[in-house]
Formats: sequence, structure tokens, C-alpha cells
Amino acid sequence: MNKIALGISSCLLGNPVRYDGGHKLDHFLTDTLGQFVDWVPVCPEVECGLPVPREAMHLVGDPRDPRLITIRTGKDHTARMKRWAKKRTAELEKDGLCGFVFKSRSPSSGMRGVKIYNEAGASSATGSGIFAHAFMKHFPLLPAEDEGRLHDPALRENFIERIFVYRRWQDYIRKDGAVGGLVAFHTDHKYLLMAHSQKHYTGLGKMVAGAKKMRRGELHAGYLGMLMEGLALLATPKKNTNVLQHMAGYFKDKLSAEEKQEMQEVITSYHDGIVPLIVPITLLKHYVRKYQEEYLTRQVYLNPHPLELMLRNHV
Ligand code: SF4
Repeated sequence: MNKIALGISSCLLGNPVRYDGGHKLDHFLTDTLGQFVDWVPVCPEVECGLPVPREAMHLVGDPRDPRLITIRTGKDHTARMKRWAKKRTAELEKDGLCGFVFKSRSPSSGMRGVKIYNEAGASSATGSGIFAHAFMKHFPLLPAEDEGRLHDPALRENFIERIFVYRRWQDYIRKDGAVGGLVAFHTDHKYLLMAHSQKHYTGLGKMVAGAKKMRRGELHAGYLGMLMEGLALLATPKKNTNVLQHMAGYFKDKLSAEEKQEMQEVITSYHDGIVPLIVPITLLKHYVRKYQEEYLTRQVYLNPHPLELMLRNHV
């Protein structure tokens, strides 16, 4: 697989573009995830024409449409930022992004929870930075997360899983986007989807069953929308345990009583939080290889992202 194109707030790559001339280098993003990613850096404040260093800014006013104001001299950069954001989000379409990592808490780049101040100077609400808001409106289905939340192992695993699914979706669309390919895509993602949402898996299955009666564009938009909505729901130990039990069922006539007991013990240990998800997955993969279980071999759930990222060692 070629590297995945991901947008990123430029300061997270170590570029000295912050208001004070500093950066916010994030080593996980550059050194670990970066091995699999072609970063597309975006610094809204510098790219819209502001210098480095510059006066710090914050969001002020109506939480539904806040203004970007410099803190000391009260200069309003809202119109400049909005004009640039509209142009830049349209340009980003050609980069084939599979997601975006935003810098948290920034009045330009923060995707959620950014403080909004009232005219009296008190923090009265929270919202999105001006560029992040424009980006998410333009690309509503693209996985997006901020670097602060990516320090949480479950959120990190979820985000990275979604960007790899998005990439597989792009590959399917680029190949031909035909109904046959959608059936294969849906089949390959069965257990991954079930680990997030049985309801979404069932809904997507119905869409695939009626795919030939739908217009191609409508089918793709509908499927991708429901897919990304379902995958954004976290895969909990309970949901993963259900999937692991389904998969273990494929070997009920092949394993000895002792092997079956070991499998159950490992799944229970995962469910109870004693071992991470990678442990039952590794055992299952061993039997999938040994017995050449064709249907499971193709399941993305067993290999959703590169092992080197070690994401399932911590969930
Ligand atoms: S948070 Fe956004 S605007 Fe601020 S320095 Fe980083 S990339 Fe630039």
C-alpha cells in the first residue's frame, strides 16, 4: 500500500509557525504514524498571510459564528481567515486526503472545545477554530481528530483504523466503484464493522443488497456516510468480545478441547481487561493461517492497520 495522504496542522510536524515562533512537534505523529503517511501540512494563520511571530488570537462573540481577534490590540482577522479557508479547503480536494490531524485548542485549527470569549473578555462557550470548521464542513466524511485526543489509546486506534478504511474506500472507488467491488468491500469489513456497530453493519448490508437499484453516486455517498458514522463509534471490549467469539466459532470442529479452552480463556482475559486485544487476535490469526480459513483470511478486522503501530497492544 502506498503512503496515506493526511492533512495536519503544520506546527505538529515541528515547523516553527506558531505565534511565538515555536512549534508543537508530536513525535508519535512524525516518527511512528509518519512511516505510513504523506503529510500535507497546513498552517492557516501563516498561509492566510500573517507573520511569524505575530500577536496571539482568540475567538470572540457568537458561538455559532465567532470572530478571530488578536488578544492585545483587538485586530479582527475573521474575514481574511474565512476567505483563505474557503480557497484552501477547495485546493485540498486534489490531495486525496484520508483524514486530518488538527492542533487542539487553536482558534484557527482546533476542531472542538476551543474557548470562545464574550465581549467582556470571559470565556463563555466552546467551538471550532475558523479553518477547522470550514474544513469539516467541506469534508464532512473525512476522519478528523486532534493531537490531544490521539494520546488516548482507544481514540488513537479508532482514528487510525478509520483512515485506513478510508484509504481502502478510495482504492475501491479509483478501481471502478462497481457493485461487485462494493460487495467484496462490505464482506471484508464485516467483523470490523460489527466491532463498532451491529446496527450500522446491518444497515450497510441492506444498502448493498439493494445496490443495483440505486444510482452509483447515491450508493457511494450513502454507503460511505453510514460506514464512517458507524466506525466513529468506539469498539468496546464487549463488542470486540462478541466478534472474537464469532470468529472462534469457525474453529469449533478443528480445535482440540484443550485448544478451545485456551481460546476461551484468552478471550475472557481480554474481556476482563487482563490482556490487550492483540493477544486474542494473535491466537486467532495463528489458527486462521494454520487452517487456511478463507473467509477469515480476508477480514480487515484481523489486520486493520500496520502491526508496527502497536495500536492493539494498548486497547
Ligand atoms: S495551531 Fe494551526 S494556526 Fe496555529 S501554528 Fe499550528 S498550524 Fe498554525
